[in-house]
Amino acid sequence: MNPDALLTIYLCVWLFVAGAVLGSFLDCAVWRWARGEAMFRGRSHCGSCGKTLSPRELVPVLSYLFSRGKCRHCGAKIPAECLWAELAGGVGFVCFGVKFGLSLELAQWLVLGALLLAVALTDGAKQIIPDRLLVAMAANRIVWLFALRQPLWDTGKGMLISCLVPAALLAFVLLAEKVMKKEAMGGGDIKLLLALALYLSWPELLLTLLLGCVLGILAAVAGRNRGPFPFGPSLAAAAVLAACFGGPLVDWYLGLLG
Ligand SMILES: [Zn+2]
Repeated sequence: MNPDALLTIYLCVWLFVAGAVLGSFLDCAVWRWARGEAMFRGRSHCGSCGKTLSPRELVPVLSYLFSRGKCRHCGAKIPAECLWAELAGGVGFVCFGVKFGLSLELAQWLVLGALLLAVALTDGAKQIIPDRLLVAMAANRIVWLFALRQPLWDTGKGMLISCLVPAALLAFVLLAEKVMKKEAMGGGDIKLLLALALYLSWPELLLTLLLGCVLGILAAVAGRNRGPFPFGPSLAAAAVLAACFGGPLVDWYLGLLG
């Protein structure tokens, strides 16, 4: 096996572990945030009996699988979101590892990945995408724009063009709401697309929107009894997929345009 492939595999194993640990941490923080508790204070405890969790109950993914999703002390069900957040963190980080390899640029995308996971969790828990997370996304992009010495003029132009996608969507949504006289799409979702416009080219952003709709519909069908389904998690997942694997599809599409 060539050394590059081996390095990528090694990198991805560690990225999966790091992403899963981060997913576990964020899930816990958002769970506390949704209940008005201090997000980062105190040790992790069972949401039902309040027992402090031991280290072996805190291993991402594995703890959940070995305990079959139940608290070891009181037998209460651990929300499946815990496992999903850990897997999403792990798989998301691996996607970035495959696409960007061991590079400085990888750091920019890992921070974005962490923020997207936080967005997905807050939107899932309370149907809110906090502005603070979106501002952090924008700040991260601007820091790396300088750190990676990307050409300011060309990159800025690309960002502005990408911003036309959420702008067009906003116009469409406002029009649809006027016609249907009810809310068509949350403002938070459009602001999320605006933040993503700083990272993705316009075809990638369009792909994110389309893929987000498909994932959102699939998720709504899968969990149909659970009330209104937030769009944020689907958009976040779609953005990661578009950034990492959208290239060939985008090239094909642009080829069609000539
Ligand atoms: Zn318990």
